[in-house]
Amino acid sequence: MKKLFILACAFSFLACEAQSVSSDISAVTDNDLTTYYTGGTGKNQLLFAHTSNTPVLSYKIYSSGENPTHDPTNWVLKGSNDGKTWTIVDERRDQQFCSRFQEILNIIDNPGTYKQYILEAETKSQNDNLIIAEVVLSDKNLLANWENFKYPKVQFESLNPDTEGSKVYHQLVQDPDEYIKYHARKVAEILYYTANDPMTDVENIEYTLEDKDGVSAKGGSSPNIHIFYSTRHIEKSAKESLFKLDFETRGVLYHELTHGYQYEPKGIGNYGNNKTFWACIEGIADAVRAEAGYFDMSTRKPGGNWMDGYRTTGFFIQWLTTKDPDAIRKFHKTVKDLDVWGFDKAIKAVFGQEASIDGMWNEYQEFLTKQ
Ligand SMILES: [Zn+2]
Repeated sequence: MKKLFILACAFSFLACEAQSVSSDISAVTDNDLTTYYTGGTGKNQLLFAHTSNTPVLSYKIYSSGENPTHDPTNWVLKGSNDGKTWTIVDERRDQQFCSRFQEILNIIDNPGTYKQYILEAETKSQNDNLIIAEVVLSDKNLLANWENFKYPKVQFESLNPDTEGSKVYHQLVQDPDEYIKYHARKVAEILYYTANDPMTDVENIEYTLEDKDGVSAKGGSSPNIHIFYSTRHIEKSAKESLFKLDFETRGVLYHELTHGYQYEPKGIGNYGNNKTFWACIEGIADAVRAEAGYFDMSTRKPGGNWMDGYRTTGFFIQWLTTKDPDAIRKFHKTVKDLDVWGFDKAIKAVFGQEASIDGMWNEYQEFLTKQ
């Protein structure tokens, strides 16, 4: 009996200690998914100061690169103005992150104006300590206009499950269907304004991991597409770190999924027989990848031509967003609107008749030379 009593004390002491409020939140607010808040077991409380006078309308929590057992499963976000009275603004239970370094976006149920917020989070098991990579509080509803997005059906299959590449993929991605669906919406968000825009519809995505050379490729045509991803490429990318593999996997996925959602140019032949068609398709796919943040932008160098396709064209199209934040959406819309598509016509449609592809490209080259 006596022994039990001591044990109970020890546990309650541990629970008390774990509940102490942590105001050292630097690792979850540094915009770096490789630095973590490493907390205790049980309930952890993270304190956020909020300087603006606008209510937080949504927030994102990012999983770390550690084992998923350390992810938060249940959490509550509370707001306060005096640090004594706390009001619950949002509460989530039984959450699961579909991969490592992945966000869960929460739209706040009960917004209000507060000077401080506390995130109270715990792991699924009382034996695992909490690890979180990043927390982002936003005064915007980050899902606004996209609540009605029609997610595709995903059929995922690893054709060579015994390869190292396939094994490490599953270490990175716990729920491949959700992982691909999440990126489908992110791609559409970059190409279109809202989920209600007329959109190239993607209904079914067959996604396979295969033990063959190459990186990744899209086959079929919307609404039914197939994407393959090479387990050899996965194995190579994972050599440096799991984070590096994540960066590469998401980047490649943004590119291939863009091929599912993008418009195809009209009046100029097809992908196989017309270079402008090809440069447009591959350029926009790499522009979306760059806009999403999954290229090392220090690899941008002067030279080449907008007709070179892939990242040479893609970096250029993405750079247009420095002139107009909607430049990628507008450029992409010209692909649907123009009866005979061309780069010069597209630039004129976005920036006015006095603009030209030569002029814009020269300005971009100057920017690259100076950076
Ligand atoms: Zn491509």
